[in-house]
Amino acid sequence: MNDQHEGCCGNAVDGSRRTWLASALGAGAFAAVGGASWLLPGLAQAAALTKEQRDAMTPDQVITLLREGNERFRAGKMQGHDYLAQKRASASGQYPAAVILGCIDSRAPAEIILDTGIGETFTARVAGNIANDDLLGSLEFACAIAGSKVVLVMGHTACGAIKGAIDGAKLGNLTGLLDKIRPAVDATQFSGERTSKNDDFVDAVAATNVRRTVDEIRHRSDVLAGLEKDGKIKIVGSMYHLVGGKVEFYA
Ligand SMILES: [Zn+2]
Repeated sequence: MNDQHEGCCGNAVDGSRRTWLASALGAGAFAAVGGASWLLPGLAQAAALTKEQRDAMTPDQVITLLREGNERFRAGKMQGHDYLAQKRASASGQYPAAVILGCIDSRAPAEIILDTGIGETFTARVAGNIANDDLLGSLEFACAIAGSKVVLVMGHTACGAIKGAIDGAKLGNLTGLLDKIRPAVDATQFSGERTSKNDDFVDAVAATNVRRTVDEIRHRSDVLAGLEKDGKIKIVGSMYHLVGGKVEFYA
């Protein structure tokens, strides 16, 4: 882990780095990072988030940037990502501002719907965005070792894993995964038809599942709960709406 730690979190600084926060916050970002030439119009070079930029942000500022990235996505005004420049700028070190725990669904790729680039967010994906020990360890690495400020649990509408849990589907190793979602089905208060055919019920269970995952992270990770208590990170739930493309933040 030590070698990996150094590899993941070297302290290389590249003054030319520019990220999604540059275009997202404008003057606000300028204040947040103490001023840097990469914010001046015409001088911006597309590249990755620096340690200074990331460390200067509060968890709430990171959440604002993620919200604004999603607004750009919905408006069709995503940044012109220069992935080769981002790759070069981040090769010697990464300073992601957030870690996103999302579903594997092909329609919910966090980096695209939040308009982030290489080196800006960690992304953990598992069907139904549940938190098991290995995922908790990944989130702990992202925040406690690599310095991310936000854990964003992101469910989505029309989730197949949620439907499978509602139906009690059984298939190989998937059975055990769906068992972890099942308590969210039981815990969802809903007056209509409680089947996977009812989109509203499916989405209500998905919302419950996100909130349960957030609770589980807090209760099963002393590391993350401690960081949140100290104000160093925020653990936030959210729901990505496939229709419309909005990421609804539960914060
Ligand atoms: Zn899903």
